[in-house]
Amino acid sequence: MRRVINFNPGPAVLPRDVLQEAASSVLELSDSGMSVLEISHRAKAFEAVYHEACERILGLLGVDAGEYEVLFLGGGASLQFYMVPLNLLHPGGYGAYVDTGTWSMKAIQQARRIGDARVIASSSDARYARLPEIGQVPDDAAYVHITTNNTIEGTEWHDLPSTGGVPLVADMSSDFLACSRDHTRFAMIYAGAQKNIGPAGVTVVVVRKSLLEIANADLPEMLSYRVHARERSVYNTPPVFGIYVVALVCRWMEANGGLAGIEALNRKKAALVYGRLDAHPDVYEPTVVVPDDRSLVNVTFRLRDMSREAEFLDGARAREMVGLKGHRAVGGFRASMYNAFEVEWAARFAEYLDDFARS
Ligand SMILES: *Cc1c(COP(=O)(O)O)cnc(C)c1O
Repeated sequence: MRRVINFNPGPAVLPRDVLQEAASSVLELSDSGMSVLEISHRAKAFEAVYHEACERILGLLGVDAGEYEVLFLGGGASLQFYMVPLNLLHPGGYGAYVDTGTWSMKAIQQARRIGDARVIASSSDARYARLPEIGQVPDDAAYVHITTNNTIEGTEWHDLPSTGGVPLVADMSSDFLACSRDHTRFAMIYAGAQKNIGPAGVTVVVVRKSLLEIANADLPEMLSYRVHARERSVYNTPPVFGIYVVALVCRWMEANGGLAGIEALNRKKAALVYGRLDAHPDVYEPTVVVPDDRSLVNVTFRLRDMSREAEFLDGARAREMVGLKGHRAVGGFRASMYNAFEVEWAARFAEYLDDFARS
């Protein structure tokens, strides 16, 4: 199995052991006589996979299974931009949004289709090169929405805002299960699996049961959290294979020290790369200007001499490094180093950054 150094921002690298086990299950799941692609979503075999995935996610997050529900949905994180306000906004209510870049703006735009979305903090005036200060959160908001890791801009919340009694809702797509946090602070978390924990096609929603109780009840079934929770994510056919791979990735994470172990690895990789970027300020310009706001998993930077961009990418490709081009909206470069990205790859990239700077 040939493996390049895969910096893809999502879908992204998965652990080799997980790929091998998934490949074998595509042929036959345990001793079922069927491929994981052939089992019924109402069969015992799937039920076991589903329960394992739920339990491991809650265990890794460190939240109480009695208080939170896990849902596996389709439609990507992008559908959650719409489902959150649809389910949580009541007539006259509003969502309080923190604007930290492209993805949070998309969440705000979708919320405005449903009702009132107010921006309570924004770093757009700094072109999202840092995170904004979140002052006092208005206590009459239905919820506060943050994007914990800004995949495109390269910022990440390392300290959570206090929201008093207002439910905190997070788009955690690109750092879900990538660092330890006090996850009991969130009333709801959603994440597309394809950055850190699985293949594209499954979106994980972790929601506090008490929030479900006050969610809108009379909605089209497919868009209703209450329906998906009541039906244990099998109101319709869920993304079976994706859920299976998520369970395997969670198993792999536990074998690697759980969230604390994974965070330590992610910190090590980030330190290797930022260290070399900072060592050559005449060559590289990290795009995030406040070091405390830097993402552990998406390292964004530019070359001072933009005319050397193609040369930089060609040199990387010669070392089997792929996926480094920055998002088309911001340009420059982005080294996405999610959970399964190997420390040894980060070390090789750090070496390349040195070599390129000296050349
Ligand atoms: C990738 C990403 C999304 C979009 O996810 P889809 O699953 O493609 O809809 C949303 N928010 C953040 C923070 C992301 O990184």
